Amino acid sequence: QTSAAPGDLALAAGTEERELGAPLVRLTGVNKHFGDLHVLRDINLTVRRGEVVVVIGPSGSGKSTLCRTINRLEPIDAGTITIDGRELPAEGKDLARLRAEVGMVFQSFNLFAHKTILENVTLGPVKAKGIKAAEAKQRAMSLLERVGVANQAGKHPAQLSGGQQQRVAIARALAMQPKVMLFDEPTSALDPEMITEVLDVMTSLAREGMTMIVVTHEMGFARKAADRVIFMDAGQIVEEASPEEFFTNPRSERAKDFLSKLL
Ligand code: ADP
Ligand code: MG
Repeated sequence: QTSAAPGDLALAAGTEERELGAPLVRLTGVNKHFGDLHVLRDINLTVRRGEVVVVIGPSGSGKSTLCRTINRLEPIDAGTITIDGRELPAEGKDLARLRAEVGMVFQSFNLFAHKTILENVTLGPVKAKGIKAAEAKQRAMSLLERVGVANQAGKHPAQLSGGQQQRVAIARALAMQPKVMLFDEPTSALDPEMITEVLDVMTSLAREGMTMIVVTHEMGFARKAADRVIFMDAGQIVEEASPEEFFTNPRSERAKDFLSKLL
């Protein structure tokens, strides 16, 4: 166990040169079907500790399914997925434990509507990890501070803006002290003026060394924060490159076509 809990890290401004560690997430020969639809085709992907991988690709290419398989919200038909060297079991107690190591932030914020912001962040650690209430509260407040919404702790989700809710969702995921964070189009449901505040939180997480897999159409974020860009199409990883390489010199016709439509 080497990495400190993300919530315990001080803001490490300007630490652009991040050391990448050992493989943390590894998908080998992963295949998945929805009926006749082959949504994930022979996915091989290794994400190292501290690495930020941005996944892009057209709608329907399998990006969300990929995220969902990584913490077994979706079963796979073939292949293996390991987190920190341990294979994800299909079900049972071990699954719950391993799943707690994978934080997930969705497009729709998915906060508990009838709980306060503070309760949203303390619930998981108290219920699933047996953290004492006082400690969970203290840690939650420091996470809320970190994402800039500590002053909203007593409110309910509906009283917050979309950008604030999404930052709470990030704090809630971090409260479980995950080893890796998955983001599935976290800013797609936000009004433009709120996108930056969420991307800023993600960028600082990345700089602090969090391992992240981020599905996004925000190419500015990809350029700035990604170590690697993965381009998916029709259930396959078509291209894998550094952001600079990918954006300036995409190799596949499909990636070229996709990028030309974004501009
Ligand atoms: P993306 O996130 O890249 O837009 P998805 O992973 O959501 O793509 O979907 C990939 C393909 O799988 C799409 O054709 C989609 O319609 C299909 N799909 C996704 N979820 C389901 C499901 N639960 N049942 C059947 N088909 C699904
Ligand atoms: Mg999707």
